[in-house]
Amino acid sequence: MNLNELSKTMAFNSTERMPVLFVGHGSPMNALEENEFVSGWRTIVKSISKPNAVLCISAHWETRGTFVTAMEKPATIHDFGGFPQELFEVQYPASGSPELAEEVQEIVQKTKVEPDERWGLDHGTWSVIKHFYPDADVPVIQMSIDYYKTPQQHYELGQELTSLRKKGVLIIGSGNLVHNLRKIAWDKFNQRYGYDWAIEANEKMKQFILDGNHQELINFQSQGNAFRLAIPTPEHFLPLLYVLALKENNEQVTLFNDDYVAGSLSMTSVKIA
Ligand code: ZN
Repeated sequence: MNLNELSKTMAFNSTERMPVLFVGHGSPMNALEENEFVSGWRTIVKSISKPNAVLCISAHWETRGTFVTAMEKPATIHDFGGFPQELFEVQYPASGSPELAEEVQEIVQKTKVEPDERWGLDHGTWSVIKHFYPDADVPVIQMSIDYYKTPQQHYELGQELTSLRKKGVLIIGSGNLVHNLRKIAWDKFNQRYGYDWAIEANEKMKQFILDGNHQELINFQSQGNAFRLAIPTPEHFLPLLYVLALKENNEQVTLFNDDYVAGSLSMTSVKIA
């Protein structure tokens, strides 16, 4: 083993088991705004020791097949339209971690995980992590969501990431439990307001999460009308399944940022530790 290989191994040696987070990211403007959700992010990260690296499964990277960003310097991707120029000027210069990307490719057996050199960090990742680690001093990689996989397959892929938790890797799923942009209440865009169906779905989801009833969440497509409205497309919900899949029997589940925005979004977030 040469020195370079040795230092790579050292970066991911054994640590205490890291928590796992599902973060409701909401509007990209959270990257710039000061609000209770951003404060909630800052508070939760204080309870977590500084990781060797972050692996983020973001709702905003859907692919055919599963990829991990494998570049040294991931670009900051501004994957949205119609926001103020200052949001397009945000740069989050965290380094990548080709070593962690390689590790993910090695430990995941049931799925072929491929390295990606073209993506980077999208706003599902940087709008949140910018508040976690403002100095961008923790390497960050992303794993994509394969839109050909079933919810059960996403859950099982999540389970395969478990060894990373003891290598100082903070695994984050970034999405929103309730996310229906077509139903946004534009007149209540900045209000903490949820439609009845949004509240109904979110409350049920929370109960399933707290009861450890993961199968009901994997079966989200059979949970009736409120769930159909809350999850019109699955990409913001699926990151939750990766996070729940990593829960060990003796772990506690804590909710934070448990509130609604603009009628059809919930910011409810989950810490497992
Ligand atoms: Zn989003």
